[in-house]
Amino acid sequence: MKTVLVVDDDASFRQLISKWLGSAGWRVLEAGDGTEGIQLAIELQPDAVICSLLMPGCNGFQICRAIRERAGVIEQPKIIVTTGSVYATDRRNAIEAGADEYLVKPFKAEDLIRILDLGQGRRPVAAAAPRPPPKHYTSLPTNQPPQLKFWGVRGSIPTPGPNTVWYGGNTSCVEVRADGEIIILDAGSGIRALGQSLAQEFNDQPINLTLLITHTHWDHIQGFPFFIPAYSPHNKVRIFGYEGARKGLHSTLTSQMESPYFPVSMRHMPGNIAVTELREREFQIGNVKVATAFVNHPGVCVGYRLFTSAGSIAYLPDNEPFQRLRSHSGGQPTSDYIEALKYASEQDQKIIEFIKDAEVLIIDAQYDDVEYQSHVGWGHGCVDDVVALALFAKVKQLFLFHHDPDHDDAQVSRMLDWARELVALHGETLAVEAAREGLEYVLNPAAKS
Ligand SMILES: [Zn+2]
Ligand SMILES: [Zn+2]
Repeated sequence: MKTVLVVDDDASFRQLISKWLGSAGWRVLEAGDGTEGIQLAIELQPDAVICSLLMPGCNGFQICRAIRERAGVIEQPKIIVTTGSVYATDRRNAIEAGADEYLVKPFKAEDLIRILDLGQGRRPVAAAAPRPPPKHYTSLPTNQPPQLKFWGVRGSIPTPGPNTVWYGGNTSCVEVRADGEIIILDAGSGIRALGQSLAQEFNDQPINLTLLITHTHWDHIQGFPFFIPAYSPHNKVRIFGYEGARKGLHSTLTSQMESPYFPVSMRHMPGNIAVTELREREFQIGNVKVATAFVNHPGVCVGYRLFTSAGSIAYLPDNEPFQRLRSHSGGQPTSDYIEALKYASEQDQKIIEFIKDAEVLIIDAQYDDVEYQSHVGWGHGCVDDVVALALFAKVKQLFLFHHDPDHDDAQVSRMLDWARELVALHGETLAVEAAREGLEYVLNPAAKS
């Protein structure tokens, strides 16, 4: 006689199943909670386990995993998960956890008996069919001047609301179209609206785009699960970035879409998504050369510089200038302190070299000078330093970026006014804007840097 173990905290459901299966010739064991269920499954080795998905103490996913992970078991029981949940993600997660079948309550006796009689043991799980690569991507016109558009300009966390209407509350995301390429800089919450816009513009035409991630802090990746083009099997999404301090780029991106955080895992996104960890400091995206530089920010964070046919765009959304940080460390004019300042100066010089003569500089200007005093070492810059960097580097157009979540529109505008005043005080011509959602900038083909 074959044995089935029914694990469910609903006694009347257990009784019903016992009645059905008892009269169908099965010996039925019962467990009222998951912990007892796992114990009985291991001790008594039933031919099949029917377990509820949601139970206090130990849920059906855990039961599936616990049974499947048992070492030394030759004959694995068939596991049938029973649940009221019709969500595809729950079904998928149950199967991934080790369930063979997923039965939505209420179901009929004959359905359950038919499934149980379909042979014993685990059935092989079918491998996912390989996705056919899309053949023809829509090519962008290459004769249009390179341009960029801001979709998210905020740092740290989205801040929607009446006080951020003008500059916008979404986190970092900039779209660049240059020389036939669509290049997206960071996937903060702003990428959601960009995705909607691309889907509308390209309709059913395949899109081929590249996403450059500066680092994996939330404000730079959290929009990706909501990026519509990544859900179309016609589209190709290449993601580039560097390995983080603790985890690789791929692992970090997939982690934020694991079941506790999001209903769709990254590998179930239908788009052709390829994540590549960068090893080189320079690489090509079509005809656009990309250079990178490590910047001063907690963890591994880079800035990108895109060399287009009409000048270059430098993007450093998170950066705390070295000199300012070190000079605030309260050091005495000892030789160690002077050495530290010298080192900091050299590091800042490297950043200046990296952005030198850029047509456009988009850079972290989260604080004003007074705020910075109480945010030393937080990894962000202040307006005064950013203007100085841009002037030293002879940048043409500066965009203040990564606005503080506590700054309302009026505060960002005040910081912009101050930045322009600083430029005027130096007698320079640097153009300054505060980045805002929807703002577009077209590079001048006559310029080249
Ligand atoms: Zn950030
Ligand atoms: Zn960051």
